[in-house]
Amino acid sequence: MVEDGFASLPWRPTPRCDAEGGGHVLEGKSATGSWAFLGASSKACQRCSKALVAGTLRYSCKRCNYHLCDSCTAVRVEEMLREEMTLTVYREAEPEILPGLGADDDTLQVRIERGANVGQLKARIFALYGLSPALQAFRRDVDSKTLGDQELLAYDEDGDVVHLRIGPNFAAGGIGGLLQGATEAMSSVFAAMEGQRQELERTEYTLSLLMPETAALPERRCRIPVMATARVAELLDMARLELNVEGEEPLALEFAGQKLPTTASVHALGLRDGDTVLVFPDVGRTD
Ligand SMILES: [Zn+2]
Ligand SMILES: [Zn+2]
Repeated sequence: MVEDGFASLPWRPTPRCDAEGGGHVLEGKSATGSWAFLGASSKACQRCSKALVAGTLRYSCKRCNYHLCDSCTAVRVEEMLREEMTLTVYREAEPEILPGLGADDDTLQVRIERGANVGQLKARIFALYGLSPALQAFRRDVDSKTLGDQELLAYDEDGDVVHLRIGPNFAAGGIGGLLQGATEAMSSVFAAMEGQRQELERTEYTLSLLMPETAALPERRCRIPVMATARVAELLDMARLELNVEGEEPLALEFAGQKLPTTASVHALGLRDGDTVLVFPDVGRTD
């Protein structure tokens, strides 16, 4: 909320550790000297190794024994803006203009970067379901106003809910049956697309991974089953394991001459059963 006379800071997610599944909320506190008194070794920042001595601000996840200093927490929060979360999109029931002609409510799970804005969510839903951005309107809840495309989603926890209404013009009320017909048609398109997505979630492809011969090592190959909805990042983890790639050497995947982006899904990239994917050291990586 913007308060009169105060510039509002841009929205930032709550800092979390980097555990699987979105991480746990980090608890911020001023470090005390008690560890030293208890004979435990003093904690250090996971990232920059700075000692978190008494009087410094630290952010901790007890479950993961994960501690960050103040400045690394700020970096972590920026990083979280680019990480994906699962947003629950609640499609409101269509009003029943004529008896029996309303559509039931429905929910969808959409993966999206935490730092995304409403326009980007519309684009993602268009990519997943073919529903034109012009027909999507989002609200934080039933009673709030429609969000503009430039507004940040500002949700940071898996399962957070945003409301979607589908229809050509939400402000106009007088088109009656015409509007009803249009929303009916779109609801069924939507249901069909959702069915397709669920089908995809049950589809598994067997892919061949091929790591070409290097000066040090012979060619390595394996075949792995993978869900159509799996992301390239998961495929990379499997490749590392199955091909016994030692150490922390960064890897990348290539298909049809293209390096595969890690956040895209196997199906979306056009990979299908029986395809062969090249695995190679990611020399271009700078981080
Ligand atoms: Zn640090
Ligand atoms: Zn944790």
